[in-house]
Amino acid sequence: MTRGVPLLEDLGNIDGRHVLVRVDFNVPIAKTPEGERVVADDFRIRAALPTLTWLRDHGAIITACTHLGRPKGKPDPAYDLGPVRARLEELLPGVRLLENLRFSPGEEGNDPEFVLELIEGQDLYVNDAFGVSHRGHASVVGPPKYLPSAAGRLMAREVEVLTGLLDAPARPFVVIVGGAKVKDKLGVMRSLSAKADTVLVGGGMAYTFLKALGHSIGASLVDLTRLDDCAELLRSPGNLMLPADSVALAPGRKLSVEGPAGDDKPAAPGDGPEVEVFGLEIPDGWRGADIGPATIDRFGEVIASAGTVLWNGPMGVFEDDRFASGTKAIAEAVAHCPGSTVVGGGDSVSAVSQLGLEDKIDHVSTGGGASLELLEFGDLPGLEALREAPNTKLDPRAQG
Ligand code: AMP
Repeated sequence: MTRGVPLLEDLGNIDGRHVLVRVDFNVPIAKTPEGERVVADDFRIRAALPTLTWLRDHGAIITACTHLGRPKGKPDPAYDLGPVRARLEELLPGVRLLENLRFSPGEEGNDPEFVLELIEGQDLYVNDAFGVSHRGHASVVGPPKYLPSAAGRLMAREVEVLTGLLDAPARPFVVIVGGAKVKDKLGVMRSLSAKADTVLVGGGMAYTFLKALGHSIGASLVDLTRLDDCAELLRSPGNLMLPADSVALAPGRKLSVEGPAGDDKPAAPGDGPEVEVFGLEIPDGWRGADIGPATIDRFGEVIASAGTVLWNGPMGVFEDDRFASGTKAIAEAVAHCPGSTVVGGGDSVSAVSQLGLEDKIDHVSTGGGASLELLEFGDLPGLEALREAPNTKLDPRAQG
């Protein structure tokens, strides 16, 4: 057991037994020129192999289940698992994969009938889908009510690393947060700022903090409903560090994520630059879209001397090359930090992998929302369910 959560070894003898494994095979799907759907990146399938191989080597008969995309509770050929099944068969033959769980409304609705359908003929349950374990969905919280259960290898490692960060981080503990939606990250920032030595704030969310301090932010992203929350967080515990400068986009110009570059108004003579660096005050109409060079230096120094770094969220609109420098520089700084480093969240993970820096990060989390919730609350619905499974009750250590 790790933190009361049963592990594969706690399942007992699994030879010849039927095991239902919840995996997260929500992979990107691409189309070939012939129109065939194929797996574009099999990272998540490979990530489940340690668990699946262990179960197979110990004689289990495996049925895996996953969701793919958001098919809204009914069958939809666009989200059929055919390509995933084909890739899994290449990597590990002989594993049965059920149809997309979200083809049934019972999955997201946590319908007890759907849980019974899932576990029919199964003896044991394993959850290796960390990325969905913050959701109270049927396949995540249902089976452990009936079957002896365990966390898979991937899940166990996520829990060890992320909860370990909260217990006893090597200091200084530096948290880096970015991305667009400040409202989604306030909760985790409150929890983490209480434990961290320094919290570096970048990305679109930084402008709500800057506005709360009275700075002009031009037409940058802002959430006016959260100004008071940001002001409160800036006062206490008082360890937030905001960008000192920004790379901004001129009024009337488009970001590449807002449409094809051709949609943008062609530059006319005398138009002035379309991208400029400003300090703490951004002129009217300009949009802060990346951290500037002074901020990269300051944040870089803090990261270089950290004992532990946790990074979630890009520092700018990194999808647009003009505003990718901040995120790239922070990815490099984290990769070169001698302390222990953890990166979580889809966008920061893709920045790290685009730069080929995964091997230089100690732990790249497979779950964005799940890692934030685990860090904020110290627990997840999927973990609570495993801790309540019937086999944990037989363990004298779990009874006391
Ligand atoms: P989130 O899902 O909240 O982590 O936000 C990720 C998104 O934030 C990415 O798609 C980025 O393009 C976007 N983002 C980062 N910095 C900015 C910014 N300064 N202005 C607008 N969007 C941003």
